Amino acid sequence: MAQVKNWQLNREMQYPYDDNRPKKQIAYIFDTNKCIACQTCTVACKTTWTSGKGQETMFFNNVETKPYGGYPLKWDVNTLKTMGDQPWDKTTKTFKGKTIFEESGGDNVKGWRPEERDYAFPNMGEDECSGIVNKGSFFSGIHDVWMFYLARICNHCSYPACLAACPRKAIYKRQEDGIVLIDESRCRGYRECVKACPYKKTFFNMVTRVSEKCIGCYPLVEQGEQPRCVQTCIGKIRMQGFISKPGEARADNPIDQLVHIKKIALPLYPQHGTEPNVYYVPPIHVPVDFLNQLFGPGVENAIAAYKKVKEDKQALGAFLLFGNSPKTIHSYKVEGDFTVGYNEQGEVLTRVPFTEPVFVRPYSDEKYGTFRHNTP
Ligand code: SF4
Ligand code: SF4
Repeated sequence: MAQVKNWQLNREMQYPYDDNRPKKQIAYIFDTNKCIACQTCTVACKTTWTSGKGQETMFFNNVETKPYGGYPLKWDVNTLKTMGDQPWDKTTKTFKGKTIFEESGGDNVKGWRPEERDYAFPNMGEDECSGIVNKGSFFSGIHDVWMFYLARICNHCSYPACLAACPRKAIYKRQEDGIVLIDESRCRGYRECVKACPYKKTFFNMVTRVSEKCIGCYPLVEQGEQPRCVQTCIGKIRMQGFISKPGEARADNPIDQLVHIKKIALPLYPQHGTEPNVYYVPPIHVPVDFLNQLFGPGVENAIAAYKKVKEDKQALGAFLLFGNSPKTIHSYKVEGDFTVGYNEQGEVLTRVPFTEPVFVRPYSDEKYGTFRHNTP
């Protein structure tokens, strides 16, 4: 195994292949505080990519309710069970345990393979909260029971476990954008990728007998457009862009601003070692111990920064760009009361005001001889 640097673990780790970071790396930020589990993203993805034979229970994008939801069933609990202790040095934010590559003991990756029926209940646990809501409870601030929605896609990892495990070398990572793809003509259906991916985001098609996965909507990305799940998101919780290498963060890149600079958005289960590239703003109402297991040791800082985001115009400017352009925003600038997003060529894609304008119309409209009500 080669020694590679994993910035999310703050240390070197073992990986079957040499470090070969792509020229650009696709990345996403999902703000869990804004997701309403409408599943529009799920349906947009399903109708675009997985409506064929053998794909009936296949969801490249799914949204599950934590703590009890999971697709496939118990995907995260089962992976965690195979891994043993996963300690962090909280001061240096260094991972002290072993990754799925370092735990593998002879194989390239340590994993587990779900059964077919584990994919049959994608909304198991939906809207279930962490405990019993006592009879007579009423809202009086933060509830002592909680839940939140976790939207999930392939993370287009920098060190993909699916790629590492494939004996046919059918999985590859594109140099131009870091998207991880399966060459289905090479795949022989051994399902090693299904076993290896700790996020369970490769799927086996029982009809075609090959594995399939999220393709990052690369036909859109190649046109400078954000993927379907991002463009259709009702809650405007998502942004897709490109993340810079650690140490090369650009303050005018909204993804870098929120991940590398402000550290408000964190990777999911970084301890597995794949360096995933979907970054999550953690939910502000959930116990920190639970969130530390999901997002690593930066949760408290991330939540504190998020709660003060109105005082930080650079961070707020980046957040306001979410859902306000179908195109991929490469850079942005705060200009007075607006945040402005640009494409790779430096052309303006969107201008978003910090304060949404309010128009109060006169009650009496003499032109049309009618009365109007203003709703707050
Ligand atoms: S479309 Fe957006 S708000 Fe709706 S479930 Fe998906 S991520 Fe959440
Ligand atoms: S999330 Fe899974 S399928 Fe996607 S690149 Fe990472 S290891 Fe591969």
